[in-house]
Amino acid sequence: MLLVGADSQLVSRFKENFGRDVALWVVGSEDSVTREMLNVADVVVVSARHEFSTERFRNLLLRITTPAVILLTGAREPFEVLRRDFPLIRFLDSPIDFSYLRGVLDSSELDRARLQQLGREHHRLTTLYQLSSALLRVSDISQLESALDPGLPKMLSTSLTLLTFPAWKHPVIFRHAPGGISSRRVAMLSAHLRDAWDVLRPDLPLAWDWLLELEQGEVRAEDRTLKPWSFMSVPISRGTEVQGFLTLLPKPGQHVDEMFLQTVFVLTDLLGVVIQNLDLRTELEMRAHVDGLTGVLNRMRLLDLLGLELKRLRRSNAPLCLVMVDADHFKRINDTYGHQAGDEVLRQVAQLLRQSCRELDLVGRVGGEEFLVGLIESDENGGRIWAERAREKLNQLRVKYDDEVIQIMCSFGVAAYVPDGKTPPGLDDLIGMADRALYEAKRLGRNRVVAHSSIAAGEA
Ligand code: GH3
Ligand code: MG
Ligand code: MG
Repeated sequence: MLLVGADSQLVSRFKENFGRDVALWVVGSEDSVTREMLNVADVVVVSARHEFSTERFRNLLLRITTPAVILLTGAREPFEVLRRDFPLIRFLDSPIDFSYLRGVLDSSELDRARLQQLGREHHRLTTLYQLSSALLRVSDISQLESALDPGLPKMLSTSLTLLTFPAWKHPVIFRHAPGGISSRRVAMLSAHLRDAWDVLRPDLPLAWDWLLELEQGEVRAEDRTLKPWSFMSVPISRGTEVQGFLTLLPKPGQHVDEMFLQTVFVLTDLLGVVIQNLDLRTELEMRAHVDGLTGVLNRMRLLDLLGLELKRLRRSNAPLCLVMVDADHFKRINDTYGHQAGDEVLRQVAQLLRQSCRELDLVGRVGGEEFLVGLIESDENGGRIWAERAREKLNQLRVKYDDEVIQIMCSFGVAAYVPDGKTPPGLDDLIGMADRALYEAKRLGRNRVVAHSSIAAGEA
């Protein structure tokens, strides 16, 4: 009980009437009242024995945040005005009606509890909103971790929060544990999840003890305290397929209520949408980068990537070789076998070129029946040898279409950038050089490889 400046008679009357502690403050008897005192006081008593003015009490009431009650003893005229201006404060007259006062205090306590609960709910929704906004801005999987931090652990306040996608290249996307998580623990969890993979249902959390029973309505609310070892893994699904898990290890004794579960389910639903968005985005990007007919890079993407490579290679002093490939007399193929047969030939030419080079090399379709290959860290001689091999393989290619067997030949123009301390050519210049070599291959009779340096030497 906080009793500041109250006279002994008043104190004893309060003690008699309240079984529990009531914070009491008597105005006027004590001027050095701190804000803390005002805020813990349940009841402010104004005694008629003291001088007071409406203005003084207006200031007082403005400073008070917690007391729901002003108890008036004595002169009341100035308070009629205040009563109107402060509708949330209960003004009581003397003599004190203690049973009424008790009711008022109980209800104000209830209000305070409700306010606290509302405050918590408000905070939860705000954090959830911030988290959703951050998640919906994620355009690449690598951004997921920073979008979830610190919102996710803050919301759930578990002692471990893991976001895993076991079938992915980087299975652990997000990990949070105040003291850190040992790799052993993560491995153990991953093993758990791998074992459970077959029996997973995308709509049901993986209950490590009571959660499944909860789904069946068999766990009473008061029993929902997780044991320290009770992990909870909630599937993240894309449609009907489980993609990953949000795995939580609640703090020892942490109470898991409906609100907690609801938050977890909202988050896993949201993560499912994010994953779906990322998949769609990847697909769209692929479509924007890949030539629809042949599956190799399209012109724009190839030129972008070659531009980047050229910059990178200049810095590392490594060469880059471009090979321009053009199908010979392709018009005749179309004319003889039809356009669709021509399409199939183009597909197989592209495939052969792609398979003939290393993974890092770049292959793109830059015209109707024209391809450009970027051989990374290869000089002109290396490019010439590669092109010669590819040409021979193409000569052996037999494209079957309907009942026809179609043969194809190509001409190759090779040009390379080899760092020599001089100003390097731009990408357009280099492509122009390969183009001129290709033109020369056509001129010399097709189905052959010409290197740019050989025509340059011939021209000189
Ligand atoms: P050259 O040896 O001089 O290169 O002769 P060419 O007939 O290959 O060259 P030209 O430029 O005269 O003709 C190219 C042909 O490629 C004409 C065009 O119809 C065909 N072509 C372009 N794009 C496609 C395509 O996507 N599918 C098919 N089937 N044919 C295409
Ligand atoms: Mg051609
Ligand atoms: Mg052409």
